[in-house]
Amino acid sequence: MKISIDEIPQTPKEIFFSESVEELNKIYSQSNNREFGFPASLEVELRYSRMAADLFFDGRVTGELSGVCGRCVEEYRFQLDHRFDLVLIPDPAKAGRKAGALHRDDLGLSTYSGDEIDLTPLIVEQVILALPTQPLCSEECRGLCSSCGVNLNRESCACQSPSGDSRLAVLKTLKVGH
Ligand SMILES: [Zn+2]
Ligand SMILES: [Zn+2]
Repeated sequence: MKISIDEIPQTPKEIFFSESVEELNKIYSQSNNREFGFPASLEVELRYSRMAADLFFDGRVTGELSGVCGRCVEEYRFQLDHRFDLVLIPDPAKAGRKAGALHRDDLGLSTYSGDEIDLTPLIVEQVILALPTQPLCSEECRGLCSSCGVNLNRESCACQSPSGDSRLAVLKTLKVGH
């Protein structure tokens, strides 16, 4: 999605569109990181406005993603619902250069140059920021047995608990004497 800078009004304007995020699947598979899978597109609600040459965006990106659980290694689906807001200021060094150059300066401000804003990289970045740092199919996921590898959410096994699980330790003491 691209927006021509001339069309950014002073009074906020709201739009809805589908943004293609297939690029993310490429990025994630090339980096050998298959933790996440992305649909062809995500839904975006966006409000934008300007104050002089400063551009303001706020919005929300939603859609269904898949993740690979960090404990049981099963694929699961989850709903992404991420709100964001961004300010883009003109890049003084690049006035007159061709469009497309969006980057962050040392102060963490995003700058733009050219006469249109390509929203795709901004949205892709927001999606990456919104991803869980440790993907889990459920907070209660019991993971895989470290000895035999069974998925402990679905079956139990006869292996000893490796160590340290205090709840199991307590259960073992209770059994003594039966
Ligand atoms: Zn899991
Ligand atoms: Zn086991």
